[in-house]
Amino acid sequence: MGRTRIQHFIDGRFEPGSSDFTLINPASGRDYGSCALAGPALVDEAVGAARKALSGPWARLSLDDRLDLLEAVALGIERRAKEFVRAEILDTGKPLSAASAIDIPRGIQNFRFFARLARTHGTDSFATGSFATGAFPGASAGSSGSLNYTLREPVGVVGVICPWNLPLLLMTWKVAPALACGNTVVVKPSEETPATASLLADVMNEVGLPAGVYNVVHGYGPDSAGEAIVRHPDVDALTFTGESRTGERILADAAPHLKSTSFELGGKNAALVFADCDFERAVEGTIRSVFSNCGQVCLCSERVYVERPIFERFAEALAQRATALRVGDPWDPNTAMGPLISAQHRDKVLGMWQQARDDGGDVLCGGAAHTIAGDELSGGYFVQPTVVTGLPETAAFVRNEVFGPSCHIAPFDDEDEAVRLANDSDYGLCAAVWTSDLNRAHRAAAGLHVGMVWVNSWMLRDLRTPFGGRGRSGVGREGGVHSLDFYSELKNVCVAL
Ligand code: NAD
Repeated sequence: MGRTRIQHFIDGRFEPGSSDFTLINPASGRDYGSCALAGPALVDEAVGAARKALSGPWARLSLDDRLDLLEAVALGIERRAKEFVRAEILDTGKPLSAASAIDIPRGIQNFRFFARLARTHGTDSFATGSFATGAFPGASAGSSGSLNYTLREPVGVVGVICPWNLPLLLMTWKVAPALACGNTVVVKPSEETPATASLLADVMNEVGLPAGVYNVVHGYGPDSAGEAIVRHPDVDALTFTGESRTGERILADAAPHLKSTSFELGGKNAALVFADCDFERAVEGTIRSVFSNCGQVCLCSERVYVERPIFERFAEALAQRATALRVGDPWDPNTAMGPLISAQHRDKVLGMWQQARDDGGDVLCGGAAHTIAGDELSGGYFVQPTVVTGLPETAAFVRNEVFGPSCHIAPFDDEDEAVRLANDSDYGLCAAVWTSDLNRAHRAAAGLHVGMVWVNSWMLRDLRTPFGGRGRSGVGREGGVHSLDFYSELKNVCVAL
């Protein structure tokens, strides 16, 4: 197989651009190809194409025809699912089991879901005065009332800035509703994971999406393609998924144009495990919530609080199961954990584990790089599943997002303390509650300062529900009708009758 060379996609055509950056496969640490690098001029071209497309054939499609195209995109990804899986694994190193059962199927589902939702979702209308009571039209002219109804219109050009952890899944989570609402998009995938956004461009051409509706520019964030999108005056709305600090910067850069923004940011999520839980289910669920995607999911539990009577037993079981997770070759169907995304991220995670030790933490398992003998994977960015205990709540490891396969585990004595500990965070994305007491589950869920609570589960998703976080975890909600609301301008029409 030849070297991968990824290009921009602007106005329905692939464009090489004038310079490239190197792509590294995190499972081998080796260069496997190159990707075109966009600066402000290319971003301007892409935004121009997106703006022009807003008034072209795309705007003239009926809602049904537009949504048929999105269903065709879903089918197009499905037909080429193996290529998408391969591209995602090369870019991220995530295990085959995850890429083929989660990432790519969710990419497909995002298009189907939003196409169906937009087809059936209506808008509000309000009748007032005698018109509302049904007395109209017999009532005397001029005093009968009014009818208000809402029109849903596209926002315009949407800038979609994506992270590397779930590249196709999170990108299509934005692109699908944006297109369903009639917008056009300029997407900037993460510089670590540009491949599936480009493959999707191929699918867009195959299904006949009008040129300029879906554009992709590659590059970095600051002083590069990302910043150029954020600052571009013709980008009407920005949807961003990534680190909280990046969100701060993007919000400041977008301020002069008062762009509409939606931010899905970092997390430092708590799992609360009560003594009355189904022990096995809670251990298995917590293993999933801590170690999925090598801990690189914004929803991962990084703080596990366990009620004191079962603390020792739970901590031991968690460390034992974590140690048994198979780390290694992403292509092996039995692999549970691939590498971290990059050498830089591995060094950051290892540094935070060292800091946890220096702060007095007790490492129950892991805590180091995972080495694999042999040619192919010895240079990969693998680390061990790690569980730490014994740190004060003020320790950096307990307060800051690690975004690696690790958690801190600590005991609590009662429900109030558990909720207080969970809420003692600058973040507020999600929490998991493990209990068999229904009343306690509802009480805890109500008391937690987060956007999403899972009871006796984790990351069980229904795409109709609001998704997003509080505090440093985000601004706004997407999902279901919340996405339709972000990706459209609602216009009220008031007719006096
Ligand atoms: P990141 O913030 O470093 O980068 C995300 C994207 O923003 C990349 O495409 C990057 O090039 C771009 N970018 C960086 N600086 C920019 C700037 N100044 N202007 C414009 N674009 C810029 O995040 P990451 O490391 O790719 O992703 C990991 C982070 O994402 C974690 O903090 C994780 O919690 C968060 N995340 C959150 C959610 C959620 O739904 N809340 C989901 C996934 C990931």
